[in-house]
Amino acid sequence: MYFHPIEDPDTGQIGYLLADATEQKAAVIDLPPRSTELLRALLAERRLALTHVLRTHIHPGVPMNCAALSALTGATLVLPEGAPVPADCAVRVQTARDGAYVVFGQQVLQILDTPGHTAHCVSYLWRDRLFCGDAFDLGSCADAGEDADPGLMFDTLSGRLFQLPGSTLLFPAHPLGGRRVALLGEQRLRNASLLTGSRDAFITEMLSRRTPAQRRARPSSATRRH
Ligand SMILES: [Zn+2]
Repeated sequence: MYFHPIEDPDTGQIGYLLADATEQKAAVIDLPPRSTELLRALLAERRLALTHVLRTHIHPGVPMNCAALSALTGATLVLPEGAPVPADCAVRVQTARDGAYVVFGQQVLQILDTPGHTAHCVSYLWRDRLFCGDAFDLGSCADAGEDADPGLMFDTLSGRLFQLPGSTLLFPAHPLGGRRVALLGEQRLRNASLLTGSRDAFITEMLSRRTPAQRRARPSSATRRH
């Protein structure tokens, strides 16, 4: 196995390159926009074939390199079910459905539906590592940005992510305060007061963290996830 975080210090985004050393096949999760050349160098250095380009989520209107990267490499683009597909996308797209798997070489990623940060977010579980995108920020519950739904966020965190073993390693899409990885058990303890309270109290707390502009842009729905 091969594992290599790819961080863009200018944008504060982190992507992850995973590879099967036996069959020399690789997958990349949430590659930062300006890191394509670095990724290609890493692939060439280890003679890896990129088979999957995965996204945990997409923000409408935010340009990304995932479709172009898939076209360049022939890799399958994996997007969350319901996520907006880039308009210029002319590559093979695999829908990331809850409970399904992505296989590259002898490695297997399990897909977990984890909406909240956006309506269509997934996380990828690989061995003891969870690549959660922005579903959760290290040290605190994820931001209350205008695409977020605090009710879905509560359902995801309390009913899904924090049900995983405490020894699971969380790898987010951004560092926080210099941290880039955390034990799930530690984060569960840190956020216990927020996530063991009521769903309504959580929604109220998350909405209170929004700026006035964010509140005007998108009021929260209180839709419960089933
Ligand atoms: Zn995001």
